[in-house]
Amino acid sequence: MQQLRALFEHAAVEGSRRKTWRITVKRERSADGRAPEGEVSSWLHAHARPGDIVKVSLPFGDLAVPEGDSPLLLASAGIGITPMLSILDHLADASSGRRVTVVHADRSPAHHAHRLELDDLVGRLPHATPHLWYESPQEPVQPRVRRGRADVTRLTLPEHASAFLCGPPAFMQGVRGDLLTQGLSPKDIRYEVFGPDLWLSE
Ligand SMILES: Cc1cc2nc3c(=O)[nH]c(=O)nc-3n(C[C@H](O)[C@H](O)[C@H](O)COP(=O)(O)OP(=O)(O)OC[C@H]3O[C@@H](n4cnc5c(N)ncnc54)[C@H](O)[C@@H]3O)c2cc1C
Repeated sequence: MQQLRALFEHAAVEGSRRKTWRITVKRERSADGRAPEGEVSSWLHAHARPGDIVKVSLPFGDLAVPEGDSPLLLASAGIGITPMLSILDHLADASSGRRVTVVHADRSPAHHAHRLELDDLVGRLPHATPHLWYESPQEPVQPRVRRGRADVTRLTLPEHASAFLCGPPAFMQGVRGDLLTQGLSPKDIRYEVFGPDLWLSE
């Protein structure tokens, strides 16, 4: 995996349930060759090394899963997987019996960050079902893997599901539109934009 790598996994944090914290950083390349490369992610990929001390904030964002037993749909693409892993980790740790539909889209299995960890977390949840879309899947195509871009209209969604989306704007706009068509209410669809929050107006 060239573009995505965990930069450090062993920063001790007092008071957290775990003894370690982890960050996962996608290197932001220049999209069109004219815009600059991502400043901080490029620096981390180029210079951060084991043993370095990195100051990090507490986690934050809009994808907080409500407690309870309502069904969940977690839909991510690319580096948008990071909040989904935290949610799944929390559910697995709580031995949750919630129905969880896990959707992830990526260019290929090699681009899919934390792919094996996702498998493991889903395997620890008795009512979680993964659905993966790769633009270039490995041959032969594995069960629950589809070729192309994510298409949630092909899934049977549980009633009263709450949806959580994270990924590039075009992915989230597409998934959100499909979920609205399938009857989800806007208030049941939460999303996290990994950048300026302008996508709804695009
Ligand atoms: C709540 C939240 C959680 C997140 N979690 C993660 C995570 O776990 N992992 C992860 O990898 N990312 C995560 N992100 C996304 C991450 O914060 C962004 O990718 C971040 O902007 C990268 O920082 P950077 O300094 O490398 O890039 P920046 O320097 O901020 O650049 C970002 C993009 O803007 C373009 N750009 C910069 N300056 C210009 C300019 N002058 N003109 C045109 N284009 C320009 C760059 O080419 C690049 O594509 C998260 C975002 C949020 C809001």
